[in-house]
Order: sequence, then C-alpha cells, then structure tokens
Amino acid sequence: MNTRRPRFPADLTASPKGNGRSPAAPGLSMPASARVVSATATRGLGLDSEAVRERMVSRLVEQGLSSKRVAEAMRQVERHRFVDSALVNQAYEDTSLPIGLGQTISKPNVVGRMLDLLVQAPVFTQSAHPSGRLAGRVLEVGTGCGYQAAVLSHLFAEVYSMERLKGLHEKARDNLRAFRLANVHLLLGDGMLGFPRGAPYAAIISAAGGDDVPSTWTDQLVVGGRLVAPCTQKNGQQALVVVDKTESGLSHSVLEAVHFVPLKSGLA
Ligand code: SAH
Repeated sequence: MNTRRPRFPADLTASPKGNGRSPAAPGLSMPASARVVSATATRGLGLDSEAVRERMVSRLVEQGLSSKRVAEAMRQVERHRFVDSALVNQAYEDTSLPIGLGQTISKPNVVGRMLDLLVQAPVFTQSAHPSGRLAGRVLEVGTGCGYQAAVLSHLFAEVYSMERLKGLHEKARDNLRAFRLANVHLLLGDGMLGFPRGAPYAAIISAAGGDDVPSTWTDQLVVGGRLVAPCTQKNGQQALVVVDKTESGLSHSVLEAVHFVPLKSGLA
C-alpha cells in the first residue's frame, strides 16, 4: 500500500492536467488572442468559474444543504478541474460525470448531502482545530478523480482517501497537485479494509456502495464519530446509510435511495 501526499508543482500557474494552461471555465468564451496572455486569462477564468460555482452552491442551499461549512468548501473547489476537458461545460450542473475506468464523480447534490450529514457527527460539537477546520481525521473510500477529497480537505483537519484502481489513484494525484492540499493523504489500497494506520477516524465516507457496511469501518470510528455510505438494502435498492458510533454501540439510519458505483474488494 502506498501513502502519498500530492507533490507541489514547480509551476503553480500550470493546470492540474499539466498542459500549462488553465482549462476553460464553463460559459466562458475567450478569443484565442486572450488565451496567450495567461495572467489576464487566469483572472477572467477565476472570476467566471467563481460565479458559476456560486450559482451551483446557491442551488444546493435551496435544495436543502444546511451546513455553511460545506457550502463554503464546495464554493472553494473548482470542480471543472477534475473532469475531462470535453465535460468542463457540465462541471457545475447537478449531474454525475464519467471519470474513466467505468467510474463516476458524484452529483454535487449528493456530495453536499453526504457531507452535510458527516459534519453533524456528535464528535464535532466538542472540539475545534486551530486551522478552523473540524478537528479529527476523515477516511474517504473511493478517491476517484479527487474532487470530494479536495472538498473534504477544507472541512477536516486530516483527510485519508483510498482508491483501489491505480489509474484513478494516479489521476487524483495529478488533479490535486496544483491545489497544494497538505492535509490530504492519497492511498492506493482496498478501502474495504479501512486504513488502520490512520485510525481512529472522526468520520468515514464511502463513494462506493456494498451490501453491508464493513465492520472494519465501524471498528475504525471514534465514539461520537459518524459514517455515511451507500448500501444495498433487502429490496435490492441502494440507500444512503448513516452509522453513529455511541458509547452503547452502533446506531443505523437508512435514508433516501441513491445510485453509486459498486464497492469492490482488491486492487486493480
Ligand atoms: N469521491 C470520488 C467518487 C469516485 S466513484 C470523486 O470525487 O471523484 C467511487 C470510487 O470508489 C471509484 O473510483 C471506485 O474505483 C472506488 N472504489 C470502489 N471500491 C473500492 C474499494 N474497496 N476501495 C477503494 N476504492 C474503491
């Protein structure tokens, strides 16, 4: 199993895709001549993509996103930098998008919903971190393209994110490099086993759904901690499940139906 932090790029103006240019923001049409003046272009891109992101977050708040922390974190992360250039103009729509190897980046609405549930873990009412983030470590199962890991990095003191597909682990590392998120640890491994070296976690979030919540995950939660994961129910449908670890045991809640990629064991 590898533990890697995203490395710092030498050229901080380079896009995470490594083509030396920032990807075009959705809705931004710029004459070719403007694109060569990178400082101007970057300023224009920054403003435009910020406005589009603000609209995305406002919609999420209208639809029920309640945590100001989560809204702010989602406002900060440039989702368009995590998808292929052909999909950039859909990056701020409420849709899941392909990220390669048959996997998808979740809809913003679902990311917001799961994080909204996660930050309400009882353990977070007790302590604050000097950085202003929530104190404690979070484990994400299913790094995918790294988008949600980036959002988590604005919320929690330390983020451990595990991916079983080497191609996506590497893609996430490339995508995250330019963001210089020193509190994100990308791991290549089978998330069904959790990551005991980083345990215990205040929060665990899975972006892939199995038939059960593995006991390794609940074993690695702190008392007062919370796990949010999709899980297939007896009727064969996937639903969002919240597990709280309390002094007296585990408490499960089954929420709305969701559609996530399957949780699979082993590396590939
Ligand atoms: N959070 C991601 C969503 C990725 S989709 C993002 O923001 O892009 C879910 C991911 O879970 C897929 O990449 C899939 O390969 C991964 N996955 C499935 N089973 C896994 C396991 N046992 N361990 C780690 N990752 C797993």
